[in-house]
Amino acid sequence: MTWAICKSCGEKKFGAWIECKTCGVQPPMFDQICLLLSDHYLTKEGIEEASKQVKELKQGERKKVELAAKYFQSEKLKGNPDPSDIVLQFDES
Ligand SMILES: [Zn+2]
Repeated sequence: MTWAICKSCGEKKFGAWIECKTCGVQPPMFDQICLLLSDHYLTKEGIEEASKQVKELKQGERKKVELAAKYFQSEKLKGNPDPSDIVLQFDES
């Protein structure tokens, strides 16, 4: 079971690369941001935070999604040079 956040609207959906039932956007297969915005990488709290931040981004209230390391599942971050400051930047699309 994979919960993910739609990077277009911020709603929760089932599966990182499937079509969003809320906004209808189908992300590209193997999109890295979609994967980062899923519970493969995020904790339950991280999913909630990502949802909130993507919605704020879409409403023009923020410029980028910034998720602190505490929202990520630490074992997935092995090899990341600086897991304390992870910023997801993506285009408006
Ligand atoms: Zn959506």
